[in-house]
Amino acid sequence: MALGTASTRTDHARTVRDLLASGERSYSFEFAAPKTEKGERTLWNAIRRIEAVAPTFVSVTYGAGGSSREGTVRATERIATDTTLTPVAHLTAVNHSLAELRNVIGQYADVGIRNMLALRGDPPGDPMGEWVRHPDGMDHAVELVRLIKESGDFCVGVAAFPEMHPRSTDWDTDVKHFVDKCKAGADFAITQMFFHADDYLRLRDRVAAAGCDTPIIPEIMPVTNVRQIERFAQLSNADFPTELEERIRAVADDPAAVRSIGIEYATELCARLMAEEIPGLHFITLNHSTATLEIYENLGLHQRP
Ligand code: FAD
Repeated sequence: MALGTASTRTDHARTVRDLLASGERSYSFEFAAPKTEKGERTLWNAIRRIEAVAPTFVSVTYGAGGSSREGTVRATERIATDTTLTPVAHLTAVNHSLAELRNVIGQYADVGIRNMLALRGDPPGDPMGEWVRHPDGMDHAVELVRLIKESGDFCVGVAAFPEMHPRSTDWDTDVKHFVDKCKAGADFAITQMFFHADDYLRLRDRVAAAGCDTPIIPEIMPVTNVRQIERFAQLSNADFPTELEERIRAVADDPAAVRSIGIEYATELCARLMAEEIPGLHFITLNHSTATLEIYENLGLHQRP
């Protein structure tokens, strides 16, 4: 059966590990949990449009706290029960005790979710603020990988950083901590967004040189407006190409031109990565499907069998 065309509960429960092992390149999309009713409608419009191109899987981010966390569980559950899509639920250790983490894992399991992305998370409000461990919680994603693996037959993904995690002081330690997550049982990884293909390729080579063959899926984020240039730097620390910034700023008062440059750049980045042996591409949608679907179409992927 072609990926994503399935409609039975069993197919929703496919693991990303098995989908990647099938040898087919994976194409996946990331959504954020909605905070309002309007946001919920926007999200579901995007999900339905993405469903039509039969992606390998979709993922839903886990908020910093409160209602957005409940929204993640609800949205992921609905994807599992009301769509043909394979969901990956993000989970972070921020402000959670072990008992609470076990409870969320149990809620995901109850609705048949088999795939989770295990993340440490950042301090709410300031990603580079001081990390404060919950008194009954954990310090690093590696512990969450172990907890999820001990909790049942789950497929677990982790984060990888093409420009090194901003808190890491050197590459050797950064790669060692990544490899430790894989040794603890991580089945796949998704990168932080980046804008230079070489950064991804260097990370892949460093991890391979450390004897680790866990598939690392590059994450792609198209710039569609000028404000995102600062926003991305703040969120991800990713080095924004000067040439791209200059091209965008030169047409700053023409939103359509800005968007078109952003989509063209992301399409070229994907094409460059696809010329290499990458396991797949993971697109951040910000709950709007059109830009990512345009890239998908530019790459000829909408015609996949
Ligand atoms: P870790 O693997 O714990 O690493 C954090 C830092 O600690 C690194 O510098 C690492 O080298 C170091 N480290 C790791 N293990 C040890 C150890 N044993 N001893 C000492 N140092 C160690 N955030 C959200 O809040 N919600 C989301 O849904 C979300 N989704 C994401 C999806 C992707 C694909 C990515 C790349 C990031 C996502 N994030 C999300 C952000 C993420 O939570 C942050 O980037 C966080 O700072 C790092 O998380 P991690 O899982 O890599 O942490």
